[in-house]
This record gives sequence, C-alpha cells and structure tokens, in this order.
Amino acid sequence: DVGSRLVSTSAPERTLVLVKPDGVARGLVGEVLSRLEAKGLRLVAAELRTLTRETAETHYAEHSERPFFADLVEFITGGPLMALVVEGPRTIEAFRALAGATDPVKAAPGTIRGDFALEVQNNIVHGSDSPESAAREVKLFFPDLG
Ligand code: GDP
Ligand code: MG
Repeated sequence: DVGSRLVSTSAPERTLVLVKPDGVARGLVGEVLSRLEAKGLRLVAAELRTLTRETAETHYAEHSERPFFADLVEFITGGPLMALVVEGPRTIEAFRALAGATDPVKAAPGTIRGDFALEVQNNIVHGSDSPESAAREVKLFFPDLG
C-alpha cells in the first residue's frame, strides 16, 4: 500500500552503532538515540558493557598496524560503552551520515561528531562502514541475535 511505500522503498539492513566510552561518560547516549530514532532507524538490540581487550582488538583488527592502535584499544576499553544494533533502509550509510567525518573538526556541524567532539580518537560514536563489516561487527557484539 501507499503508506508502507512512503515509509521505505528499500530492504532493511542492520548496522552496529557504538556510543563510545567518551559519549557515555559525557551523557550523550540519549542524544545519539534520539537522533537515530528521529531519522527513522529502529533499535533492535542495546547493551551497556565494558569491552575486553580481546573484543576491542578484534573489532578494530583492520587498524592493528596503525600507530594509534594501542591508544585506541585503551580508549575503547576504558569505560562502559553502549552497543546498539540499528535497523532500517540503507542504515549503514544513514548512520555514517548522522555521525559525520572521523575527524570531528572536519565533521559538519549538525552531525554527532561535528556537534559534540574535537579530537579524532574521542569522536563519540562508531558505525559499521560496509555490509561486510556490519555483519562481522553485529555478530561479534551480539552473537545470539536472530
Ligand atoms: P571511523 O570508521 O569513522 O570510526 O574511522 P576509522 O575506522 O578510520 O578509525 C576508527 C577509530 O579510530 C576512529 O573512530 C577514532 O576513534 C580512531 N582514530 C582514527 N584515526 C585516528 C588517529 O589518527 N589517531 C587516534 N588517536 N585515533 C584515531
Ligand atoms: Mg571505521
């Protein structure tokens, strides 16, 4: 019917979103949730947890040779983060657009990083960057999700 076509014209996909420890510590979980819900994305899983070093290193394996890897693992395991699985049409791309550029100084005002962060490491949120990473990351964080 016309109503459901107006809501969405593409198949739903899932992405992993993290409100990183800096975002949790600063009380920005609600802000991130309101922005993605307002956009029309749907929450399918949510858990506050502190990552083990092993999970952090697996999650960021693609960056293991980068000079900032040790700092990044320290940061991401340094306090509780909010792990979310979010679903909707073109969700991976949609959430990356809400998040803004990796470097918060370059991120456009109006994006989460552009509005709330200044340092490249402490940039509030993570969002999977492709269908392949989304599948891998959702499974890493929520292995029991159907
Ligand atoms: P993202 O996909 O936009 O999150 O960016 P990347 O996959 O390139 O990097 C992963 C995360 O590593 C970023 O979100 C930052 O938290 C951190 N990061 C990226 N580049 C740097 C850097 O040059 N220095 C530091 N300390 N952290 C970085
Ligand atoms: Mg990335």
